Amino acid sequence: MSYTQSRYWNPVLETMPRAQLERLKLLKFKRAVGHAYANSPFYRKKLDGAKIRPDDIKSLSDIEKIPRTDKNELRDAQQTDPFPYGSLLSVPTDDVTAYHQTSGTTGQAVRQADSWRDWEWWSECWATILWAQGFRPQDRVFIPFSYGVFIAFWAGHYACEKIGCEVIAGGGLSTEDRILKMREIKATALMCTPTYALHMTEVAARLGIDPASELHVSKMLCSGEPGALIPSTKGRIEGRWGAKVYDHAGATEGGAWGFECAEQPGGLHINEAMFFLEVLNIENGQPAAPGEKGELVITPLDRRAQPYLRFNLKDTAILTDDPCKCGRSFRLLQGGVLGRSDRLTKVRGVLFSPTSVEEIVRGFPELGDEYQVILQKRDELDEVTVKVEIKPDRRKNPELEERLRQALRLYTGIRINVEVEAYGTLPRFEVKASRFEDQR
Ligand SMILES: [Zn+2]
Repeated sequence: MSYTQSRYWNPVLETMPRAQLERLKLLKFKRAVGHAYANSPFYRKKLDGAKIRPDDIKSLSDIEKIPRTDKNELRDAQQTDPFPYGSLLSVPTDDVTAYHQTSGTTGQAVRQADSWRDWEWWSECWATILWAQGFRPQDRVFIPFSYGVFIAFWAGHYACEKIGCEVIAGGGLSTEDRILKMREIKATALMCTPTYALHMTEVAARLGIDPASELHVSKMLCSGEPGALIPSTKGRIEGRWGAKVYDHAGATEGGAWGFECAEQPGGLHINEAMFFLEVLNIENGQPAAPGEKGELVITPLDRRAQPYLRFNLKDTAILTDDPCKCGRSFRLLQGGVLGRSDRLTKVRGVLFSPTSVEEIVRGFPELGDEYQVILQKRDELDEVTVKVEIKPDRRKNPELEERLRQALRLYTGIRINVEVEAYGTLPRFEVKASRFEDQR
């Protein structure tokens, strides 16, 4: 594709030769450590405890000397002064202009302070992503997101404004009203979770509306969960919307660090000019080789109010050195974020990722979009059950169940029970889907 010159397509940064990019990352990393050490009592204590001074970072391999940070440490640090961010805060409290919190379902949420400068940074990160996916000033972007304490699509909204897109804030509307509004104003782009993109098409069907032919959406940014890079899920969303679907990965603590470009290379580019992302072996913490699955650890390189040094994202991914047709030198994570490392669980001795079920389930045209994965102990043995829904115009039959059972076994290496339920019986989700239940 050809790029119109824009400040959000920055060829100097995005196609920088690797050696130069590595130098830039080291320079920025050193600056980030210096800032955290000088201004955050939490990081000063942590680095002093590890006997590391900012000046000790002389090469990229020295970065491994800095201890990683876990979410539990953030929660503890926020019990200290100043309220409510504690010793993580690295700017005067008066500089804080935005409050957000993490959306995890377990434990106390981590509070996130951002200054106006950081908020500009968030929207710059997002603008880079949106531009790479073809969002342009002519676009009318619908955001069906309830603007609240979760960061989710907030910065996407600001990034659209920076690019010059027209933004429709669909937060206060029901799903039905959102669809009708999109049709009425001819929205050309949409941002939501993959789950919600599918849910909207179910609701549209009830309204007698076919999104692909009656709405005007040509591109969608799907984020918040893996899915937009799972081929069967991407295929379902693209088919029903008649639109291109692009993945993006980010986190409240990390920032908006990864994106699928318009070439759809089957993976996520890491925005290496703004983030230092490591892929580490899950067992020993050493850098994972290209092609090897590892755990993600992130350092946002320009974040000031509440910085992070080597934060454990708990996401798993596979780094590749394969080039992308778009010409960016930013490396790719093959298949995007593959799942949560804290969700990886051993079932009868085999490592099992609940998200791996999605690719199979959504590949069956007879089945609805929803599924549930339930882990139980029966007679001391682990048992996995996958519940799915049959589409309203299809009939349950033993042959389908058997095919699904075999496909799941082949893909996961585990014998899995299958229960086919009536359409509409499994839970629906609007923001973060929770389809996994460990009852052991
Ligand atoms: Zn690319």
